[in-house]
Amino acid sequence: MNGARQRSLHQAAVDQFQRAADLIDLNDSYREILSHPKNEIIVNFPVSLEDGSKKVFTGYRIQHNNLLGPYKGGLRFHPSVDLDEVKALAAWMTFKTALVGVPFGGAKGGVTIDPSQYSDEEMRRIVRRFTHALGSNIGPDHDIPAPDMGTSSQTMDWVMDTYANISPPGFRQSVKGVVTGKSVEVGGSVGREEATGRGVLYSLRHWCGENSVRLDELSISVQGFGNVGGYFAELAADAGCKIVGVADHTGTIANEDGLDVVKLRDWVDQHGGVDGFHGAMAITTEELFSLDVDVMVPAALENQITVERARALRCRLLVEAANGPTLPEAEQILMERGVDIVPDILANAGGVIVSYFEWLQNKSARAWSFTDVDARLRDLVWQAHDRVVERRAELSCTRREAAYVVALDRLADVYDRRGIFP
Ligand code: NAD
Repeated sequence: MNGARQRSLHQAAVDQFQRAADLIDLNDSYREILSHPKNEIIVNFPVSLEDGSKKVFTGYRIQHNNLLGPYKGGLRFHPSVDLDEVKALAAWMTFKTALVGVPFGGAKGGVTIDPSQYSDEEMRRIVRRFTHALGSNIGPDHDIPAPDMGTSSQTMDWVMDTYANISPPGFRQSVKGVVTGKSVEVGGSVGREEATGRGVLYSLRHWCGENSVRLDELSISVQGFGNVGGYFAELAADAGCKIVGVADHTGTIANEDGLDVVKLRDWVDQHGGVDGFHGAMAITTEELFSLDVDVMVPAALENQITVERARALRCRLLVEAANGPTLPEAEQILMERGVDIVPDILANAGGVIVSYFEWLQNKSARAWSFTDVDARLRDLVWQAHDRVVERRAELSCTRREAAYVVALDRLADVYDRRGIFP
């Protein structure tokens, strides 16, 4: 599955922005700065497990860039987490926040762990001890984590509570914004949980408008049925799309007449995965990537669209809900085959957009309505797409390159004005 990981994911991320930088003749110093994270924090922390043993875990927080605002990015709990992966994910955050125009920089963090191997109580201890180890390296105006693979609003509630408890008493009420993606009861925003999936759907709607295609006539396959893929599939089915194939870590299923996504969600809640779902047939992973669909949405791990899969795909559009799902050589094949790609930094930016709204609500101690959150999310996604379409037409480049150009335009403008210290 992760066969392509021998090559550096971070280097692939750097290569991606360098191609866009070439198009606008970006200043060499800015290229050099953006090719490296500003800070790489690695912590090894011990946790007492329920059998009485102690285990040392390794956690990361990579702060890529904070030119436009506090470092911002998720925390991933997964066995594949390593320094290279987190560096790539942190860099993508810098370009994503710049692209959609929210006043944040880019960061990412995580712990190398398989959460399914630990009890809830052990996970609570692991999250709290990791937060303690990060200490003042995070903060509401400095570096603001959020959920990613393997973490949830519960994780964020524990991070916030731990951070508040290690803050001086007079500051404890003002540090809610140290993380976003908290549960609504603890200070989260309505609409944050499904924001990434909703942003993916807005991206698809924008693409439909641009290409005079009806959304409710699309057939779609989705890899990943977690926070992003699950909500996206539900929202897309609700909008009239036919979800014909879904994969997660337990299995891959298909139904050419369209899956009942609400029933599938219930099944996954009860059984822990899509495997065995009644009302669909089991297919292989490779069959998912060759289903005859209009749109394929990878919403799981990186490096899933390999060269072989790029040749097998029969879709017209790939919407990258996951970060970094497409290998560069595979992208080349997709371009040659005329498959359009909505790139990750654009397609999945809904999460960080609503995280920004949550942070604003925490700062002002006010709660916005769902209607407000959703309308503003749609506006920011739409504006970013419009800008990408404009820059793409001006530069005759790919949609991914244009997305990076929009981000680099903003970063370069601010570097030009602020200069490089000293
Ligand atoms: P999640 O942990 O909620 O769900 C991950 C899903 O992927 C699960 O359904 C899991 O079963 C599936 N999966 C794992 N390994 C798989 C495999 N080998 N084959 C098929 N399916 C597999 O994670 P998420 O938050 O939905 O994140 C998914 C992707 O979206 C990641 O790339 C993440 O960085 C990106 N993303 C997430 C957010 C967010 O707000 N959560 C925001 C932007 C981008």
